[in-house]
Amino acid sequence: MSAYRSPWMSEELDQFRDSVRRFIAQQITPHEKRWREQKHVDRDFWLKAGAAGFLLTDVPAELGGVGGDFRFEVVLSEELAYGNSSSWGRAVHNILAQYIARHGTSEQQARYLPRMASGEMIGALAITEPGAGSDMQAIRTSAQKDGGDYVINGAKTFITNGYSADLVGLVCKTDPAQRARGISIILVETRNLPGFSVGKLLDKMGMKGQEAAELFFSDVRVPQSQLLGTEEGRGFFQLMADLPYERTMIMVRAQAAIEAALAMTVAHAKEREVFGGKLINLQNTRFKLAEVKTAATIGRVFLDHCIAELARGELDAVTAAIGKLWLANSQNAVVAECLQLFGGYGYIMEYPIADAYVDARVQTIYGGSNEVMKEIIARSL
Ligand SMILES: Cc1cc2nc3c(=O)[nH]c(=O)nc-3n(C[C@H](O)[C@H](O)[C@H](O)COP(=O)(O)OP(=O)(O)OC[C@H]3O[C@@H](n4cnc5c(N)ncnc54)[C@H](O)[C@@H]3O)c2cc1C
Repeated sequence: MSAYRSPWMSEELDQFRDSVRRFIAQQITPHEKRWREQKHVDRDFWLKAGAAGFLLTDVPAELGGVGGDFRFEVVLSEELAYGNSSSWGRAVHNILAQYIARHGTSEQQARYLPRMASGEMIGALAITEPGAGSDMQAIRTSAQKDGGDYVINGAKTFITNGYSADLVGLVCKTDPAQRARGISIILVETRNLPGFSVGKLLDKMGMKGQEAAELFFSDVRVPQSQLLGTEEGRGFFQLMADLPYERTMIMVRAQAAIEAALAMTVAHAKEREVFGGKLINLQNTRFKLAEVKTAATIGRVFLDHCIAELARGELDAVTAAIGKLWLANSQNAVVAECLQLFGGYGYIMEYPIADAYVDARVQTIYGGSNEVMKEIIARSL
């Protein structure tokens, strides 16, 4: 992609990218292997990230964030993918902060956003349940009013940052008789909270250092002031409004993984000797890599379009679904083709292409499965 520069990049972002790269080299890469083994990053790492200014980069400074815009989040996400790092659950943390910044009361913003920006508080967003994933409106976790409190009962699963989270944006039913209109988001502070427990850390096939956990709520009491915003029954609509943001973050990760896979495979093919010549000189290799380069180039241009639309607040749900569907599929196809060119080395976890392969798999499943993306697109026809 040497001749092409994303139109949303700037000198300021170039400098930011350099500082992210240095941070990754010093504070992430040396620990990735250990984080993958323990299935989570170190807690004090969040404080380091906060001190370096890498948390809540696109939350307004007057609310406690760094005061940049979405492009800073894009650069962070790209650099982590280029650096083969998938352990840090920063995207979900930031998405919860976005909800608080956009929909929270001023008390909620003042209480949580500065502490989330410093890394003192780690955030999670808990929607999925054992019995309700794609069909979010079927969730059963309930929050019933009792005195000045909500009493919460239910279970969540697959929750990124669930093991460490101090603050969970809990998606639950405040009116179980209704579907979408019965859903609210409640901000649950988890430390020493009676009735709250965390299940086992799930053993994922990829992104092994990024914690995913089950959460259990048994007669958990929180004050009614913990409702996100002021009006019950707004949760589904708050979530829907932010989906283009979340899906663009998935696209960014996919595109950066495609670019990283291309770069590492070209380097390998130029080094590797087969049948008395370089692997890159076989026509199959050249054609496969030409296809990957084409996918990388076209994917980048569409992603840049989405980033620009999102930055203007104009990215619609259908375009975001198209991008998520396309780039998640493309990422999976590209890394599979690239891995093939590594031969047996591609199957060995020491080689980043092996991580890229297993990490890619979830991209068509979460953030709304690719089948759900097709439903959204089809409805617009
Ligand atoms: C690594 C990881 C991290 C995650 N992080 C979080 C998190 O932080 N917070 C959170 O709340 N959740 C999280 N999730 C959960 C994720 O969002 C769900 O797995 C996803 O929404 C799919 O739900 P499900 O697993 O229940 O699958 P189901 O809803 O059972 O769907 C299974 C399959 O059925 C098909 N399908 C579903 N709906 C349709 C349809 N309408 N039309 C056609 N086919 C369909 C699709 O192929 C889909 O993959 C995470 C999951 C993973 C794996």
